[in-house]
Order: sequence, then structure tokens, then C-alpha cells
Amino acid sequence: MASVGIIVQKYGGSSLKTPAHLRRAAERIRQLKAQGKDVVVVVSAMGKMTDHLVKLAYKTVTSPRQRELDMLLTAGERVSMSLLAMALEALEVPAISLTGSQSGIITTSEHTDAKILEIRGHRIRAALKKGQVVIVAGFQGVSRQKEVTTLGRGGSDTTAVALAAYLRAEHCEVLTDVEGIFSADPRIVPKAKRLPALSFDLSIEFARLGAKMHARSLELAKRFKVPLRIAASDSTGNEFTLINQVDLQEIEQTEVTGIATESHWVTFEIEENWNTLCSWFERETGRIRFIHADKEHTRITVNEAAQKAIESQLNQRAASFQCHPTASVGVVGNAVCERPQIESFLRIVSSKTPPMHFSSSSFSLVAVIPRSEATELSQALHKHFLEP
Ligand code: ASP
Ligand code: MG
Repeated sequence: MASVGIIVQKYGGSSLKTPAHLRRAAERIRQLKAQGKDVVVVVSAMGKMTDHLVKLAYKTVTSPRQRELDMLLTAGERVSMSLLAMALEALEVPAISLTGSQSGIITTSEHTDAKILEIRGHRIRAALKKGQVVIVAGFQGVSRQKEVTTLGRGGSDTTAVALAAYLRAEHCEVLTDVEGIFSADPRIVPKAKRLPALSFDLSIEFARLGAKMHARSLELAKRFKVPLRIAASDSTGNEFTLINQVDLQEIEQTEVTGIATESHWVTFEIEENWNTLCSWFERETGRIRFIHADKEHTRITVNEAAQKAIESQLNQRAASFQCHPTASVGVVGNAVCERPQIESFLRIVSSKTPPMHFSSSSFSLVAVIPRSEATELSQALHKHFLEP
């Protein structure tokens, strides 16, 4: 059944921080509904509630069971979905909230990192038919063993895109605290501008290199061709970034679209040969983002969240190592590994400390550098490639 008028809206935690935020979201939904659309809303937990629940678990015990963590964390989205339904009812908009399980989101059974297998959305469809706004708790589902699961932190975006694909929605609107994706992080590069449109491939590259989007949801959007609008929840007009398929005119355009900065890396310099580290690293490889190895040394870059675990493992092995805070700065665009771009990139990057890693792909050129140099380098690259 190809439904035409369905819109999926997703509200992130920052757009649902307080009761006033919830009432504002309800008003936004009411306006969309008044345009004659069928509306499915996916919610995150209010503000930082998920972080708070995680802390609560670790304050209670040192290593909580993953099943119980899922039970606990899914409660966050229950709070926002029910409050939002109440706020809509108060505006005389009929609404119903559903958990992931009630929505028929069937997942694998890996607790805290489940993948969506299928959606049995008859309850959602029935509610839409009755004219109700359907509010779905993001980031959660149920396994075939009837266990409650979560999709990994930030997973509400994935819920929203999966539902938009399943319902063949016109588009999926992701409402957050910024008005879209920018040509650089405006806190780092004040001259950054909002990008009005972006291809799926480039959005995935931005997410991989630090933009605050869930790369998994963008992969899904690409696969099922779900157009995404990223907008601020308090925006009223046309300030958003549209993520969609590439226009035919743009197919072979080579152009730098933006600078992506991610400051949460740490780089380990280990005085050990990769071959001897490798068997141990088998368990940790999922966490390694960049690697460089020669006969005697290994250099790896991982998210700083993994720093403590890796340090303690290296200490157990009595390995000699150093660990530095680093950042990656990438130039993102179509075919950026072509000559003029790559030459300028290398020239600008090399004017400072030589990069610890360098990588290139069809969509990006990336350097890993000391974290203290990230702002200056991001600004220099933005100035060269994006400021007329
Ligand atoms: N509330 C969950 C989290 O903070 C899911 C989400 O926000 O997408 O990770
Ligand atoms: Mg959240």
C-alpha cells in the first residue's frame, strides 16, 4: 500500500528537554496534521535522561546486565512519548503512544546493540486510519524471543528512518537543536554556513567524520531512498538541510562541500610490532579507526571512550606506549581525491605538525592531528575551500 501523505517526524532529546519543549513539539505536530498529513512521531528520551539512567545503573552495580540495561534505558522514551501524547490531546489532536514493541519493531536479540529485522506495523496503520497521530518510542524494539532491546545510543534516528521506509513516507523530518548540517561545525568555524542540500553519500561521510548524525540511519535512508530533512525544532520556514539522492546535474561535479572535525580521538604509539599485537587486537579491532604499522611500532587511533580499556590491556601486556589526544579533520565532497584538492589539502595540513594518519576516499581527505591544532586547521581548510 503506497500511502502518499505520511510524514515521519523525529524529535531528539534536546527538542524535548522540558514540559514547555514538549508543548512546543505538540504544537508543531498539530500544524503538520492540520495540513492534512498523516503523522508518525518518533521520540528520544527527554534531554539527557538516557545518560542519567546509564549513570544510575552504574551507581547501583559495577557491571549491570545488558538485558536489564535495555529495560531501564527504554523507560526514557516511554516518558517522552506518553507526555507528548498528553500534550497533543490537550490541543485536541487525537494521539496514541506506542513502545517499540507495541509498534511491531522486531529486532535481533543483541541487547544494547540490536538491529531491526522487520516491522509489523499493523497497529501503527490502524491508528493512522483512525486519524490519530502515532507517537513511537525511538531506539527500541523487541526480539523474536519477546525480549525488549535497544538499537545502540542515538538509535532513534534509525527507528525514524526505518518507519519512514516501511510506511513509504513522503519524507522523514529530524528535528534537533541546529538548523541542519553545516559546511563546518559553527562552534569551530564561525563562518560555516548551513548546507541546503546534501547527497546520501556525503551525509554518511559527514556522520562518519563527526557530524552529530547516526551513520546507520543515513545508510538506511540511502538504501530505501528516504529523503531526510534536518531542521531545528524551533524553525518555522525553510531553514533545513535536505538529504536526498544526487541531482543528475551534479553527478560528476567535484567540489568540496564541507569540513568535518571530530575531536574525540586518542592516538596510541605502541612499541610493539603489529603482528604480535594483532591477536590481542582481534577483540578490539572494532574500536580501531586508523592504523599505521611498521616493523617495530604500531600507531592506532580510537575513540577516547575506549582509552581506559586499551590502556589497561596494554599495561597488562607490559607494553611500552604513549597516548595522545587527537582529532581528525576531513575535507568532504564529491571526488575530492582529485588533483587540485588533494594538493591543496596536503599543503595546508603539512604546514603544521605532520599528520599521524592520512586517508583518502572518493568522498573525503582526512588527517589525524594533535587535538590542540584542530581548530586552526579546520579554519584554514574552510577558508581555502569554502570562503569565496
Ligand atoms: N535516548 C537514546 C540516546 O540518548 C536514543 C536517542 O536519543 O536516539 O542514546
Ligand atoms: Mg537521546
